[in-house]
Amino acid sequence: MISPTVGSIADRIRSGAVISTEEAEALWTHAGDQLLSELATTVRDRLHQPQTATYIKMAIVNYTNVCVAKCDYCSFYRLPHQSGTYLLDFDQVCAKIDALVAFGGKLVGFNGGFHPQLRLHDYAELFSRIHARYGDDLAFYEMTVAEFMFSCKLSKIPYDEGAQILRQAGTRWITGGGAEILDDGFRRRHSPGKYTVADYFLAQRAILAAGLGSTATMVIGFDETLAERLNHLASLRSFQDSVGGGLTSFLCWTYKPWNNVLGGTELSITEYLRWLAISRIYLHNIRHIRTSVLTKNEAALQGLRYGANDFDLPTEDEVTQMAGATISHDFTQVLAAARTEGYEPILRDAFQPG
Ligand code: SF4
Repeated sequence: MISPTVGSIADRIRSGAVISTEEAEALWTHAGDQLLSELATTVRDRLHQPQTATYIKMAIVNYTNVCVAKCDYCSFYRLPHQSGTYLLDFDQVCAKIDALVAFGGKLVGFNGGFHPQLRLHDYAELFSRIHARYGDDLAFYEMTVAEFMFSCKLSKIPYDEGAQILRQAGTRWITGGGAEILDDGFRRRHSPGKYTVADYFLAQRAILAAGLGSTATMVIGFDETLAERLNHLASLRSFQDSVGGGLTSFLCWTYKPWNNVLGGTELSITEYLRWLAISRIYLHNIRHIRTSVLTKNEAALQGLRYGANDFDLPTEDEVTQMAGATISHDFTQVLAAARTEGYEPILRDAFQPG
């Protein structure tokens, strides 16, 4: 039996209305899985071809695990004085890119830590050499907003100038990674050394203003409250309006609780799928909603029935693997899971947003 409140919200969604944060909360609390799936699919199918989904093979190159931010949910970082630290040189970075190319991959994401010796010009030089070597054969997501912020601060370079420096080095994309939960209460509890939410959006605004592309991300399943999750979505939606729709996609994945200080229990696939649906319905101004094979493996493809229209086939990412993620290179099997859900997977161009 659908409660009258949920029933009227559902009718509004079916008629194309934008829902409020309070309505998103009511849906999350009272709507059943089947209704959320139906509503998210209705919204998705207004923007994308029904029964198809796009995907891309990609690798995340973790160029360094040195980080001074000390987020308690992180299983990847090492402090500069600890054993086991590394910083890849140019040839080692290229070897990782070549490994992706051997898999037929086209998209490379760079993700490391807040390394206290790497200045923005070091990144610009690395990226410039990478572009010279690989040309336009591959697309690169060069750093996350969070790493960009730290590097700019360390280099005493304002964000707008930093974005221009990277642009001149050939950078096209800085992803919205490192966002986790964009709520200052959450940030104070778990990663007080990383950034404030206002500062995060200041940096992302500068990135977009410089003509670079960027994306939205979210990680759920720590100890965040529903209010904190909703704050994250509300901030994103409002930011997206303020930049004229500059963020091309939203990717949500789940926290992995192994080998870190925070620990905990992994979020169920059901809760992940329900949140994907809420995100698709609420984020009316973000066209592409992506489901995370990296953290939920084949089960992530169920997300195509909960509003997602795109996914990655990852070949490596040490950050999540250190926290317990497992990556399969049996891509045929992963793609078969999409078909089982009723969606034909279509390989997309790396330069088109997913
Ligand atoms: S999540 Fe990122 S910023 Fe935080 S400790 Fe890990 S590597 Fe550093």
